[in-house]
Amino acid sequence: MNIHEYQAKALLKEYGAPISGGVPIFSADEAEAAARQLGGPLWVVKSQIHAGGRGKGKFKELGPDAKGGVRLAFSLEDVVANAREMLGNTLVTKQTGPAGKLVNRLYIEDGADIERELYLSLLVNRETGKISFVASTEGGMDIEAVAEDTPEKIHTIDVDFDEGVSAAVADRICDALKLDSAARKDGHSLFPILYTAFVEKDMSLLEINPLIVMKDGRLRVLDAKMSFDGNALFRHDDVMALRDTSEEDEKEIEASKYDLAYVALEGDIGCMVNGAGLAMATMDIIKLYGSEPANFLDVGGGATTEKVTAAFKIITADPNVKGILVNIFGGIMRCDVIAEGVVTAVKDVGLQVPLVVRLEGTNVQRGKQIINQSGLNVIAADDLDDAAQKIVKAVKEGA
Ligand code: GDP
Ligand code: MG
Repeated sequence: MNIHEYQAKALLKEYGAPISGGVPIFSADEAEAAARQLGGPLWVVKSQIHAGGRGKGKFKELGPDAKGGVRLAFSLEDVVANAREMLGNTLVTKQTGPAGKLVNRLYIEDGADIERELYLSLLVNRETGKISFVASTEGGMDIEAVAEDTPEKIHTIDVDFDEGVSAAVADRICDALKLDSAARKDGHSLFPILYTAFVEKDMSLLEINPLIVMKDGRLRVLDAKMSFDGNALFRHDDVMALRDTSEEDEKEIEASKYDLAYVALEGDIGCMVNGAGLAMATMDIIKLYGSEPANFLDVGGGATTEKVTAAFKIITADPNVKGILVNIFGGIMRCDVIAEGVVTAVKDVGLQVPLVVRLEGTNVQRGKQIINQSGLNVIAADDLDDAAQKIVKAVKEGA
């Protein structure tokens, strides 16, 4: 789960990280009071969406010459004018995809005087099994481009779980960022703070781009992207309270109510599969035969008819879905439960697209019987290969 920049900064501030003063607003009427409260003389008006690259982003409604989603403002009037222009419009950045994201909240921040922009992040390093700092002097810009063009400028520093961020580790990060004097001292206090917040809140990513050295030589966190491990959210009610469902895919929200492992994708073949491995294999084989999956969906092991029905409805409600492939290898999951779920869902919401069903394993005869007796227009398949070929063909013929 991701949260907004202003929420991430509030959380880091609780841990003692150096953050600019700022006020979140939800309507342009609040802009002037927010700016007055901060005082100026420089403000930054920042779009709050769950995507980076806002500074270089473009508003769909404003034309190519308009400024981006992060703007400097030099007077109260300037803050208000920018807030009016940005709120309610759609920001398209490198990370939003072409549809962009609706800006319905802004963060008005005290402007900082920047000397240098650095990059610093923390992540779970699966190669070393440790939490790592990733540090680079090339901050503020696209870190992916830095990694591509000048990988030697990116330094990865592992933290030993028992030792934490020792002075030696902090020194290595300082060296990677080329920090000296006051900034170096700030680093020694900031890095353990970031690490503690990361561990205590079960984050999966904390990205500060940029971390800045100000004109006065001090460090400050200027941008913050925070992601949390979904499997640990049950023990962080405070983090859950920061969830902004308007930033999430509606189908994924619906799926999470039923505890389904569902991820929306760009293609046109809806998949209902049991087991993450089989779901991945199903997606692969759909691609192999020349189409793209519309989703990843693992209904899990002990799914009930109700859960299967919900899953099938989520797939059919997606207007991008031009065909559905149900691929079940019944182990703990019984084929008759799947069949009943499919039949119930189709009775409720109808079926406008071709449906291929491949059932194998526990209670397979009973499952096939339920489908055959339902009168549904189902294309039966024998194995994974056959099923994928049949659904791809049916969708191509229907198009
Ligand atoms: P992003 O584009 O979504 O990554 O948003 P950021 O918060 O990183 O802001 C983009 C850029 O705006 C930064 O890299 C800075 O160059 C600039 N910026 C943001 N805040 C300030 C500020 O307080 N003062 C100044 N001078 N520039 C800022
Ligand atoms: Mg940034």
